Amino acid sequence: MHALLRQAKDRLHAIEDHLTVRTQIAAAMAAMSIVLVGTLAAGAALISYRNTAALIESNLTQIASSTSGRLDRFMATRQQEIKLFAELQPMQGLWQGDPAALRSALESLQRIFSDFAWIGFADVDGKVIAATGGLLQGKSVAARPWFKQGLESVAIGDVHEALLLASLLTQRANNEPLRFVDIAVPVHDAGGKLLGVLGGHLDWNWASNLIRDVEANDGNTESQLSILSKGGMVLVGPHKETVRYGGDELTGILKARNGTFRETTDGRQMLTAFHVGNGYRDYQGLNWIVTASQPASVALAAAISSAQAILAIGGVIALIALSLAMVVSRRIAAPIIAITQEADRIGRAQGPTMLARQSGSVEVVQLSRALRSLLRRIGLAEERTKEAELRATENAMQLQEDMLKLRQLADTDFMTGLMNRRSFLAVADDAVAFCRRYKRNLATLMIDIDHFKKINDTHGHAAGDDAIKRVAEIVGQSIRTTDKAARFGGEEFVVLLREIDPETAVLLADRIRTSIESATVRHGNIVIPITVSVGLALFDENDRDVQDVIERADQGLYVAKKTGRNRTFLMPATDERAARAA
Ligand code: GH3
Ligand code: MG
Ligand code: MG
Repeated sequence: MHALLRQAKDRLHAIEDHLTVRTQIAAAMAAMSIVLVGTLAAGAALISYRNTAALIESNLTQIASSTSGRLDRFMATRQQEIKLFAELQPMQGLWQGDPAALRSALESLQRIFSDFAWIGFADVDGKVIAATGGLLQGKSVAARPWFKQGLESVAIGDVHEALLLASLLTQRANNEPLRFVDIAVPVHDAGGKLLGVLGGHLDWNWASNLIRDVEANDGNTESQLSILSKGGMVLVGPHKETVRYGGDELTGILKARNGTFRETTDGRQMLTAFHVGNGYRDYQGLNWIVTASQPASVALAAAISSAQAILAIGGVIALIALSLAMVVSRRIAAPIIAITQEADRIGRAQGPTMLARQSGSVEVVQLSRALRSLLRRIGLAEERTKEAELRATENAMQLQEDMLKLRQLADTDFMTGLMNRRSFLAVADDAVAFCRRYKRNLATLMIDIDHFKKINDTHGHAAGDDAIKRVAEIVGQSIRTTDKAARFGGEEFVVLLREIDPETAVLLADRIRTSIESATVRHGNIVIPITVSVGLALFDENDRDVQDVIERADQGLYVAKKTGRNRTFLMPATDERAARAA
C-alpha cells in the first residue's frame, strides 16, 4: 500500500516535471471546477428531487382528500334528499294513495334530483308500489339488501351492478355495466307506523364525471385519480374492475385513512396519495378510497433540469475561473521564465555576468535576490582565484629567475665571472663529442700568468687578485661568443675555441698573450706589468675526451714556460702519441 502510494507520487512528480506552471494551475482549476460543479449539481438535483417529490405528494394528497370530501358530500346530499322526500308532509297522503299520483311525484323528484337513475317506493312486503318510469313497478324487491336495511334505518348500499334494473335501463354505448349506489329510507305515516321503504339508485356515472371534473380542474395532466371500494377494487380509474390493493396493503390504507407512498404501476415509478372517505354529517361513508398518482419521473425531470442549470452556470463560471487562472499563472511564470533565459546566457561569450532584478511575488523577489547574491559570490571567488593564479605565476617566474641566477652562480667563477671548471668541462665535453661526430676543428688554450707568486709577494694578495681579474677580462674580450673561457683555479685559464683552423688558433692565442702583455694592471697607484704563457692544443681524432686535449695544452704551456715564458706553444698531437708509445 505504502509502496503503491509512493509509486503514484513518483509518477505524479515525473508528469509534473513535464508540465508548465500554467498547465498545472489550469489542470488543478479544471479538476476543482469539475468536482465543485459536479457536487453542486448532484446536491441541487437531490434537493430539487426531494422538494419536487414532496410538493407533488402534498399536491396529490390535497387532490385525493378534496375529491374524497366531494364524494362524501355528494353522497350525504343525496341521502339528505331521499330522507327529506320521505318525510315531506305533502307526500304523506300519497304513500298509501293512488300509485299513479305517487309515481308522478317520484318522477318530478327525479327531474329535480337528476343524479338518481331510479326512485321507487316499496311497501313493507317489498312490493314496488310506484317507481320512476314505472320500472320494477309491481315487482318484489324484498330480497334486495337495500330494502331489508331500509326497513329499519337509512341504508346506503355499496356500488354494485343492479341486476334487475340494468336490464330495464338503456345499455350504455361503451357496453360498460351499469353500476349503482343504493340509498334507502323507511317511510312512516304521521302516527309513526312503518309504511314501506323509499329507495333511490344513483347511477355511478356521476363519480366518473366528478373525477374527470377534478382532473380537468387540476390542470396537471400527469396526475391520475382513482376511486376504489373498501375491498380495494377499482371503481373509477384505470384497470377498472380489478383489485388494486389487497391484504396487508389494503388493511394499512384503511387504517391510516390518508397518506402517501411510492409504487410501481405498469412498470412506472409512481407517487401515490390516498384518502379514505369519512362520511359527511349523518352520512356514515362507505370507506371508498380515493387515490391520486403521479409518475415519479416528473419529480426526477425537475431534479435533472436543476442539475443541468447548475452545470451550465458552473461550466460558465469554471471557464471564467480557468481564464483567470491562465492569466494569473502567466503572470506568475513570466519572471521565472525571464530569470531562466537570462541565467542561461550567463557565462557565455558576450553574455551578461549579472541577472536583472525580477519581481512579481515574494518568492520571485527572493529567488532573484538569492541568485544575484550567488553570482556576486561566484564573481568574488573567481577574482580571488585569478589573483592567486597570478601570484603563483609570479612566484614561479621569480623562482625560475632565482634558479637561473643560482645556476649561473654555480656555473660561474666568483672572482672573474668566467665559467668555472665544472661547467666548462660539461660544455667542452659536448663540444668534443660534436666535433668527433662531424669532423670539425676544436682547440684549447691553457693560459698561466708568469711569475705570479712574485706579484703576490711584491704587491700583496689583493694586487694578485686584481691581476687575475684583469687577465680574465682580456681573455673574455678576446674570444668569439661561441668560444668559452674558464678559470681553472689560481691564475690558470682554459679557453675552448670552436670551428677554428690551427693557424687562426695560433694567431688568436698569440693575440691574447700580446693583449695581456700590453695591458696595464693597476692596483692603487701601482702599475703592475704582467705576461702570460699559453699552451695550445688542437683536437685530434685519437683524443678520448676533452681532458686529453686540455692535458696536451697543459704540456704546451709547460713547454712555453720552459722556453722563456710570455710565449705561445702549440703542442702537436703526434708527439704525444709517440710519447705514449714510448
Ligand atoms: P710560473 O711563472 O712558473 O708560473 O711561476 P709562478 O710564480 O706563477 O708559479 P705558480 O703558477 O706555481 O704560482 C701560483 C701561485 O699563485 C701560488 C699561489 O700563492 C698563488 N695564488 C693561487 N691562487 C691565488 C689567488 O687566487 N690569488 C692570489 N693573489 N694568489 C694566488
Ligand atoms: Mg700557475
Ligand atoms: Mg704562474
